[in-house]
Amino acid sequence: MRDEATPNISTQRSSPLGSDPATTRADRTQTEVGSVFVSNYPAYSFWGEEDVPRAHRALADPPRPDTKLGLYLHIPFCRKRCKFCYFRVYTDKNSQQIQTYLDALAREVEHYAQQPAVKDRPLHFIYFGGGTPSYISSRHLRSLVQRLKDAIPWDQADEIAFECEPGTLTQAKLEAIRDIGVTRLSLGIENLNDEILRHNGRAHVSKEIYQVMPWVNALDFAQVNVDLIAGMVGETWPRWRQTVQKTIELDPDSVTVYQMELPYNTLYSKDLLAGDSEPLALADWKTKRAYHAYAFEQLATAGYVRSSAYTMKKTPDARFAYRDAVWTGQDMIGTGVASFSHLSGIHYQNAPHWDNYLATIDRNDLPIHRAFATNREEQLTREVILQLKLGALDTAYFRAKFKVDIVAHFAAALSGLRDEGMLHFDADSVSLTNEGLLRVDQLLPDFYQTQYRNARYT
Ligand code: SF4
Repeated sequence: MRDEATPNISTQRSSPLGSDPATTRADRTQTEVGSVFVSNYPAYSFWGEEDVPRAHRALADPPRPDTKLGLYLHIPFCRKRCKFCYFRVYTDKNSQQIQTYLDALAREVEHYAQQPAVKDRPLHFIYFGGGTPSYISSRHLRSLVQRLKDAIPWDQADEIAFECEPGTLTQAKLEAIRDIGVTRLSLGIENLNDEILRHNGRAHVSKEIYQVMPWVNALDFAQVNVDLIAGMVGETWPRWRQTVQKTIELDPDSVTVYQMELPYNTLYSKDLLAGDSEPLALADWKTKRAYHAYAFEQLATAGYVRSSAYTMKKTPDARFAYRDAVWTGQDMIGTGVASFSHLSGIHYQNAPHWDNYLATIDRNDLPIHRAFATNREEQLTREVILQLKLGALDTAYFRAKFKVDIVAHFAAALSGLRDEGMLHFDADSVSLTNEGLLRVDQLLPDFYQTQYRNARYT
């Protein structure tokens, strides 16, 4: 699973996006192993142990004024591993092990609640991500949430988001999810063709989606999102048209479309690199962009409006508190194995494996494994590239926050991308063209500082 801001990933090795951007963009026709979805800056490969004390110091200091705080909870369990998945997930844990993990997660949140940078701050959002949060039982979920709320009250939160794999949902579990206050339910549907779902290793099939939708609708969540992936292995135009049509018929409040990637550590990539598999029937980038554009056109015809490069929403004022907080540099505590946090300008990641995560919590320590203390320039660039995913930048926002005219500051990148037909800009705003929106992740390295190009991604 993932959301647009994607705080939890496992270990990809490198990214062709780090090489010369213009050359890379022109050359990228096939879906090659190593492609990535840009979720942070500078790349994770620059984070290290040397900045871990800075993360601890930031937690011991008061928070930055006027900064919101969110909580990400990583639930790393899935029924089976999708062949394209690159997240930290486990498919072999029993109920007792899940209980052990959830106890550790609650203890981690309790530990955070005592830190001066977190203590007494209201939570702006809570995000249950994974993995598959809906994999855990209703009993596990209710007891986890009770402990979390005792540690940090969240009654004032603007958004409580929860990722689901349709085949793990029952009516009773959906009621439990609704009872804990979830406002945005995100369904990882990905495709509505069963052959494609099976081929790509998804645990669910379309029948399970149609079984759960009446329960979802009856519970009247404030927002229901459907995730789709354009260009899964085995995709064809007739199948994709059907998936888009059936998705519109499901009538979700928002639809998020990703283009299929092949980061290094997916099952597909490992097989390909080991020479153990036939070439995959995988769409090239041009076809995936065409699939993506088609889905957005159909959604627009059905009354949806664009919310970002990836998401269309039916209700114009629907909000995405988690995404917007991450993309505007607010604070987020990421809890659970391998999770990513951002606090007071410091990025950090938790221990990336089950045993060392649990052992550190057992010692009553925070499991901070690597960190990166950003300077003002890096913070500015991070916000520029992430907000570009919204399709437009407001220059007044950056003047007010960073005292920088981004049009002058990023003149070379902006002019180059304008000449390629990817964006327009004037003194007040920067707007991606439709073509720019469809390949936004490939454009972002144009804004990177030199030392962060030609780099491994994680
Ligand atoms: S459901 Fe599939 S893609 Fe989502 S986290 Fe689990 S294994 Fe990964």
